[in-house]
Amino acid sequence: MFNKILIANRGEIALRVIRAAREMGIASVAVHSTADADAMHVRMADESVCIGPPSSTQSYLSFPAIISACEITGAEAIHPGYGFLSENAQFVQIVEDHDLTFIGPTAEHIRVMGDKITAKDTMKALGVPCVPGSDGGVDTLEDAKKLGEEMGYPVIIKATAGGGGRGMKVAQTAADMESAFMTARAEGKAAFGNDEVYIEKYLTTPRHIEIQVFGDGKGRAVHLGERDCSLQRRHQKVFEEAPGPAISAEERAKIGKVCADAVAKINYIGAGTIEFLYEKGEFFFIEMNTRLQVEHPVTEAIFGVDLVREQIRVASGMEMTFQQEDLEINGHSIEVRLNAEKLPNFSPSPGRITQYHAPGGLGVRMDSALYDGYSIPPYYDSLIGKLIVHGRDRPEALARLHRALGELIIDGVDTTVPLFNELLAEQDIHTGNYNIHWLEHWLESHMA
Ligand code: ADP
Repeated sequence: MFNKILIANRGEIALRVIRAAREMGIASVAVHSTADADAMHVRMADESVCIGPPSSTQSYLSFPAIISACEITGAEAIHPGYGFLSENAQFVQIVEDHDLTFIGPTAEHIRVMGDKITAKDTMKALGVPCVPGSDGGVDTLEDAKKLGEEMGYPVIIKATAGGGGRGMKVAQTAADMESAFMTARAEGKAAFGNDEVYIEKYLTTPRHIEIQVFGDGKGRAVHLGERDCSLQRRHQKVFEEAPGPAISAEERAKIGKVCADAVAKINYIGAGTIEFLYEKGEFFFIEMNTRLQVEHPVTEAIFGVDLVREQIRVASGMEMTFQQEDLEINGHSIEVRLNAEKLPNFSPSPGRITQYHAPGGLGVRMDSALYDGYSIPPYYDSLIGKLIVHGRDRPEALARLHRALGELIIDGVDTTVPLFNELLAEQDIHTGNYNIHWLEHWLESHMA
């Protein structure tokens, strides 16, 4: 086991990893930009190193700054959290070249899954059901139009390098194809330096269901059920839950096994998420995330496991602490993402927190790096916390979420907390009757 690990991240996820390390008796090193000198992860870690100016390209994304911080402090391994360098295959290669351990999958797996076309090809070959679509990339507008006619509209044009909801455009009819194709290409090129696109059938009323998998890198892997993350704004998740209200135990066992077998076959190591769209009882693969997800706590809650601990264990060569038959679902868990954003436009709202009070009590987990007097810098993601609740069943989890939101105080900046209070008044939220478009429609009529 490692003696010391470095966390190449900030905010709540840095705290999450520091906490797991501390419970395992492992020392932690925080890295931070000059804008984050007073951040909670710096205070909570055993050591910290300033790695550059506010701009993340010169700090949290800087390979030399992070590798040097390991060398200075004697950290043996790097946990990347999510975002930043967590899915950067080149970084993983450099970490390994410096005889350090990356706490996550291999560079090769990150590369294959980071390109949506190779990811889809790989999954298809491993027996995972995929969204019908083009066979690989589509190079010309003529080919795109031809495919649109063959497949039938609506279709979605996706940048193979896309992520975070960027590089995707829907063509409702043939008339939209030209602009959708050109825009997806341009976005892929501008945001990810790669203009290759592919085409998929656009599903009109699916749910977003993702399967948590975990591998030991030696051919053993398990699944930890699904999360339903259908409540999305601009393809970004805002409310996540496990288990999925629309998924039966039989469906879970079946798709879970397909996923676990697939990652076992490729000797996948660590945590991963296989994302699907789910419509009329069928699963369609869309992408795999080769890292810990923002919404991992809902899975931890219902299975009673610590996914970060398991990540650190397998990265150090140890076994996972569970096998498939040990994993049983207990109750229901919901996470809401709290952003420093001003409604109704969701515009960033950085600034000083004048008062902060975290909710507590049975079944409540608040993962946040906020504290009284903290100043949220304007340079990074607007996620300031995740409120996770766990109950014996879905109604209890919803009641607990309502109660916990009532206890939460975040003063000084605007937040998305009022959004969740309003959502909890909606019948559809209580019946679980929603698909990936529900929230956008609701926002149009409620936030105008
Ligand atoms: P990203 O990598 O940007 O997160 P994904 O491929 O995971 O992109 O898709 C993100 C979201 O976009 C999905 O959760 C879903 O809401 C929507 N989406 C993606 N593909 C399709 C599709 N074929 N049909 C309908 N919606 C889709």
